[in-house]
Amino acid sequence: MQKSSLRGKCAIITGSTSGIGLGIAHALAEQGVNIVLNGFGDASEIAALKAHLTREYGVQALHHTADMSRPEQIADMMQESLNQFGPIDILVNNAGIQYVADIEDFPAEKWDAIIAINLSSAFHTTRLALPSMKSRGWGRIINIASAHGLAASAQKSAYVAAKHGIIGLTKTVALETARHNITCNAICPGWVLTPLVQKQVESRAAQENTSVEQAKKALLAEKQPSEEFVTPAQIGALSVFLCSEEAAQVRGAAWNMDGGWLAQ
Ligand code: NAD
Repeated sequence: MQKSSLRGKCAIITGSTSGIGLGIAHALAEQGVNIVLNGFGDASEIAALKAHLTREYGVQALHHTADMSRPEQIADMMQESLNQFGPIDILVNNAGIQYVADIEDFPAEKWDAIIAINLSSAFHTTRLALPSMKSRGWGRIINIASAHGLAASAQKSAYVAAKHGIIGLTKTVALETARHNITCNAICPGWVLTPLVQKQVESRAAQENTSVEQAKKALLAEKQPSEEFVTPAQIGALSVFLCSEEAAQVRGAAWNMDGGWLAQ
């Protein structure tokens, strides 16, 4: 990978105080990209994270607390990023939540929150980022979808709908930017052992009266033929590739990284 090609660019990564988003933040910072972190968490841990990115990779980092379900807070984050780092070059729409229930028991407010955070937030960030990407003739947009953007599982109606939706959004943005040096792609991870999945593992262990380790194995065996978790660092590396000049003609893809989940 050409280390210098991304140096000095600026990335906003939504939901990057944890898990996959944090993995992508590290991978882009390693390439010299200034990072706008977003997401919830303990203020002193987030301050330590910013300091770590600066010390380790020599980049600038800021954190914005925008709640991705609130369009006015998203607009504020985009403006703050512009004020601090100038126009945004790389947008990674990653923030996401999960809720698991049969559809007839699915709380309407959980449906609304999942659609807002996992799907509509990407509409808002993208519409706000594109004008300056177009005027400067360079941009990369990466949407973190899921294997659940291409296949369904029971009890995940809102999540599956949002993830299928973000792949549709990805394709539309790719078409609208096709004649610009701007690409928009989705990454579709299988199971990654982040706090989002840890919760599902723990509730499975409780339901089936097994250990957390056994529940992890069962979760993987059910869907992911490699029986190994995908890692945030692997998704970070794919994100760096999608930002490279070599990936300039990868457009509108839904790129699965899923241990073989979708090959079945
Ligand atoms: P995570 O829970 O570790 O991280 C989620 C991040 O989003 C955190 O930084 C959190 O603070 C932030 N966040 C949550 N709600 C927010 C809100 N309203 N506004 C702003 N930030 C908010 O989860 P993760 O597993 O790293 O998930 C990241 C993305 O990857 C999600 O879109 C998820 O659907 C997707 N994904 C995860 C897996 C997996 O197996 N973990 C698989 C496929 C796709």
